Amino acid sequence: MTQPPWMHPDVRRAFNPERVVQVTPLLRRITAPNPGMMTGPGTNTWLVGGDAVAVVDPGPDEPAHIERIAEAAEGRIRWILVTHTHPDHSPGSRRLAELTGAPILGHWIRLQGISDTTFRPEVPMADGDRVCAGGFTLRALHTPGHAANHLCFLLEEERILIAGDQVMDRSTVVISPPDGDMLAYLESLQRLKTLGLEAIAPAHGRLLKEPDKLLQNIIDHRLEREAMVVEALEAGDQYIPDMVRRIYVDVPEALHRVAAGSVFAHLLKLRDEGRAVGDTREGPWALP
Ligand SMILES: [Zn+2]
Repeated sequence: MTQPPWMHPDVRRAFNPERVVQVTPLLRRITAPNPGMMTGPGTNTWLVGGDAVAVVDPGPDEPAHIERIAEAAEGRIRWILVTHTHPDHSPGSRRLAELTGAPILGHWIRLQGISDTTFRPEVPMADGDRVCAGGFTLRALHTPGHAANHLCFLLEEERILIAGDQVMDRSTVVISPPDGDMLAYLESLQRLKTLGLEAIAPAHGRLLKEPDKLLQNIIDHRLEREAMVVEALEAGDQYIPDMVRRIYVDVPEALHRVAAGSVFAHLLKLRDEGRAVGDTREGPWALP
């Protein structure tokens, strides 16, 4: 069996949780010690600025990681921002807030599926809200698709998008209803292409260059998958497990549950566009 990419020694070294990596003049990265199938090398916590610091995604509630963030920021944390309330992104925010006294900011929508139910933003953030310090401005963009409460943060001075789980390095983002919404996800990707980005800082993996090309590739890949779902319906498949077996021949069986969520998300989008008939994950589904 081949080694998962996040286990590769070079990746483990690059994302060593004990390292503080200066990625750009305004951005530092500390990776949480939670590598895995769904998190790649671990969750990236981004430290923005210098004299005043905004922390994006403290990650899981992992005391050693939270202490490293506080130490690296040398008492200068003024805001704690959260991209969304999945368990690998937001639970550490409380411990970091207790340690530093900084307020927690995030989108105040409760998710329906797996979510950090302890999350309490002191300052609710919506699309267009900004956090400004002497040296930087972060603008919140509401980007539903992966999760209904997902925010990306644009670092305006460097045109870098702190992207949470909107885009992942070398991996496909999970879009699984009810919190995942394929139509919203594609619309969010289209919107990000209009921002004139220089790079994307994802929550999992390396800084990504040529962002517009990357965003278009993701859109194309999703639409190719969607075309395959339509082909499966044309071939007479009515149930999602059959479609997954047909479409995801290249994907290990361990990921078929995730793939089923993605097919369901495609089917709901097709239904909303009048191109498929059905309602539930159980099926049956058909062409109109
Ligand atoms: Zn997530």
